[in-house]
Amino acid sequence: MNRIDLDNQATTRLDPLVFEAMRPWLLGRGGNASSTQHASGRDARDAVESAREEVAAAIGCQPRELIFTSGATEANNLAIRGVLEASREHSQFITTAAEHRSVLDPGRRLSRMGYVTTVLPVDEEGRVDPAAIAQAAAPTAMLVSVMLANNEVGTINDLTEICRVAERQRLLVHCDAAQGLGEGMAVLSRAPVDLLSLSAHKIHGPQGVGALLVRRGSRRIPIRPLLEGGGHELGLRSGTLPTALIVGFGEAVRILRTDATRTHDLCSRRNRLWELLRNIPGIRRNGPPLESGLRLSNNLNVSFEGIDGAALLARIDQAGLDVSSGAACSSSDPEPSHVLRAIGLNDALARASLRFGLSRFTTDDEIDRAAAIVSDAVTSLRGETTQPPGET
Ligand code: PMP
Repeated sequence: MNRIDLDNQATTRLDPLVFEAMRPWLLGRGGNASSTQHASGRDARDAVESAREEVAAAIGCQPRELIFTSGATEANNLAIRGVLEASREHSQFITTAAEHRSVLDPGRRLSRMGYVTTVLPVDEEGRVDPAAIAQAAAPTAMLVSVMLANNEVGTINDLTEICRVAERQRLLVHCDAAQGLGEGMAVLSRAPVDLLSLSAHKIHGPQGVGALLVRRGSRRIPIRPLLEGGGHELGLRSGTLPTALIVGFGEAVRILRTDATRTHDLCSRRNRLWELLRNIPGIRRNGPPLESGLRLSNNLNVSFEGIDGAALLARIDQAGLDVSSGAACSSSDPEPSHVLRAIGLNDALARASLRFGLSRFTTDDEIDRAAAIVSDAVTSLRGETTQPPGET
C-alpha cells in the first residue's frame, strides 16, 4: 500500500500539471534566459517573465520587484543579511522565537558580527505581540522579520498590524511566507511588507526555487547581494536562472490562485483528523484553536504525555505514515523543536509531538488510516511502558 504523506509542511509533492508545464523546459527547450541574442534565449526569458508576472500578481507586487532565488532559505538570508550588512554595524534586527532557522541563524551570525539581534518571545499560540516590536525597537533598529504562518504549529501572524507598528517606528518589514501562501495571498496583497520570501515546493511546485520580493516604493531599501557574478536579478542574485523550475513555480502559483475550494476542504479533513485522535489518552493539541481562522487550515500539531517521541515516530514510520516531530530542516538535530519550546512545552513533551500537514491531494481514507496508525502506535507504546519490568 502507498505511504500516507502527512508531512506537507516539510514539502509537497509536485502537481502533475506543474510537471507538464515544466516538461518542455527540462527536455528539448534549453535557452539561457540571459542569452537573448537568439530565439531560444528569448523564449526562456519570456517564460521566466510570465512566471514572474504570475507570482507577482499573487502577492500584489510589481514583477520587477521579485527576485528568483533557490528557495525561501536563500530569500530569508538575502533579505536579512542583505539589508543589515548594507547598513551600519550596531544596527538592530528584530525577530521572533518561533521563526524558521533560516531567519534565526542569520540573526545569530549578525550578532557575532557586531549587529544587535533581538529575538522576541511568542505567546502560547506562537504569536508575537505587535506592540512588543515597538517596545524592543532601539533608534538603530533597521528590520523586523515575522513569518506569515508558522511551519510547526500553523500560527498565522497579524501582518497588517505588524506593518502598522513598523511604519510608526520607521522599520523595514520582512515576512517569511514559505508557509501559508494559499491562505495568505489576500493578506499579503494588503500588508505593505518591504521584503517577502516565497518557496515553490510548499505549494506543489518544484524544490529548489523561490523568490524574494524587494519593494520599490517611495523608500529605497538598502540591500546588498549574497552572491555576486553575472549581475542577474537586478544585481541581487547572480546565477543562471533555472527556467524549468521558475516555470513550475509560476504554474504552481497559478493553480493555487484558481483553487477556491482548497482551504475549506483542507480544514474539514484536518478537523476530522483531530476528531479521530482527540480521545487518545494523554493527547494535547499545540498552537492556535482549529476554528480560529488564525491557523493554517492544513496543520495539526499534537503531543502525547509520557510517550517516547523517537519510539513513536519509528512505529508510525514503519506503519507507512509520513509525519514529523518538528521542522524538516532540523530533524537530524537531537534538540527538541525550538518552536514548541517557545510556546511553553517542556523538552519531553516537545519530543513526543507530531506535526501533521495535509495537502490538497490528501484523501478522507488517508486521514482515517493515519489516525488508526497513530492511535495503535500510542496504545502499543503505552502497553509496553506500563508493563512491570521482567514480565513479557
Ligand atoms: N521558512 C519556513 C517557514 C519554512 O517552513 C521553510 C521550509 N521548511 C523555509 C523557510 C525554507 O524554505 P526552502 O526549503 O524553500 O529553503
